[in-house]
Amino acid sequence: MNEYAIKYVKARQILDSRGNPTIEVEVATQKAKGVAHSPSGASKGKEEAIEIRDGGKEFHGRGVKKAIRNIEKIIAPAIVGMDVREQEKIDEKIIAIDSTKNKSLLGGNACIAVSIACCKCASMAMRKEVYEYLGDGNYLLPIPFMNVINGGAHAGNDLAIQEHMIVPIKAKSFSHAIQMTCETYYTLKDIIEKKYGKSATNIGDEGGFAPPLSRTEEALEMIMKAIEENGYEKEIFLALDCAASSFYNGKYILHKEMDSETLMDYYIDLAKVFPIVSIEDAFHEEDWESFAKFTAKVGDKLQIIGDDLFVTNASRLRKGIKKKVCNALLLKPNQVGTLTEAIKVAKLCFENNYGVMVSHRSGDTCDDFIADLAVALKTGQIKAGAPARGERVAKYNRLLKIEEMIGNEYAGKKWKKWGYT
Ligand code: PGA
Ligand code: ZN
Repeated sequence: MNEYAIKYVKARQILDSRGNPTIEVEVATQKAKGVAHSPSGASKGKEEAIEIRDGGKEFHGRGVKKAIRNIEKIIAPAIVGMDVREQEKIDEKIIAIDSTKNKSLLGGNACIAVSIACCKCASMAMRKEVYEYLGDGNYLLPIPFMNVINGGAHAGNDLAIQEHMIVPIKAKSFSHAIQMTCETYYTLKDIIEKKYGKSATNIGDEGGFAPPLSRTEEALEMIMKAIEENGYEKEIFLALDCAASSFYNGKYILHKEMDSETLMDYYIDLAKVFPIVSIEDAFHEEDWESFAKFTAKVGDKLQIIGDDLFVTNASRLRKGIKKKVCNALLLKPNQVGTLTEAIKVAKLCFENNYGVMVSHRSGDTCDDFIADLAVALKTGQIKAGAPARGERVAKYNRLLKIEEMIGNEYAGKKWKKWGYT
């Protein structure tokens, strides 16, 4: 038997960081094995690949045994014997068997774990690091976008905006970026404790604090105070993921009701007061018109990212490019269901001068694959939560290791495109 031929595909139910069942897949050849986990979102885009869950009583319906059965009974027999290095062929086979627009037959959660496990197995079979196997020999360590104050669907407070991130663009290296963001995070904890008491320093799903705030300005002021106390105001910038679909209900409901024009002015004013360089999902996922207006107005000064808007989907991205909507995309492989499709979307971005930020999900595991993906694709940006919680730091720790292997190739040195600053 060919040493690269897939010998078996095994799947089991494990838990994600919220205690919800998710999928672990093992793909093995004679000498190598790759293991991958599917993550899971809380504020999902409507057109994401479908997660198949069991329903019924067990795990309150959240089990993934049906999806696992799809892997064992349908995907495994189809790909066993294939050359594990032929990622595209494997993914094409999965796509063909599924044959739906949104992986609803096999489940996006089943497909992505198999797809990534194949990639990891192939890299191991070739005795390469995953980023080496995926890359072209040139690598870039991404700027970490760290969500230090959580709101929206990720926290039990009244902040409508979901993520308030610190962005250490001007760090000297990736490891220096980690040091600066950690120090800022410690100080932020002290500031929150002094103002709101100890219980306010409990953390949300992505490791950021979730103090009882209702206005994003208050969150950003506290973050700025933490940055300034550490003397990093020239190095660390800010970013938001609004996840606006989650506060849209005919109108946008923040601390007050707003229409899209008022909301746009609100963001523009925020970016004048605070050193914001990037805003994700500023409007709800079908509000293409507002995204286009916003991009025309401030797209030269701000990175404007589509997450729920694009859902890592080539046809939605193409529509966005045509309508001049956003200038960057959030790359979440599980939104589309296979690695090949995710990489194609990233390439479509590069060809059209769109930025790419690789991203975790709010329900995640210690699988660190996205760290290698960001380095290999040279996206220059990753968001993987605050520097806290095992499943978040797994990605940052992997990047620290990669830094040792590839040297100081920090993307912050190349960032010049956006930002009022
Ligand atoms: P999700 O959130 O993983 O809950 O969808 C992350 C994001 O919106 O970027
Ligand atoms: Zn988002």
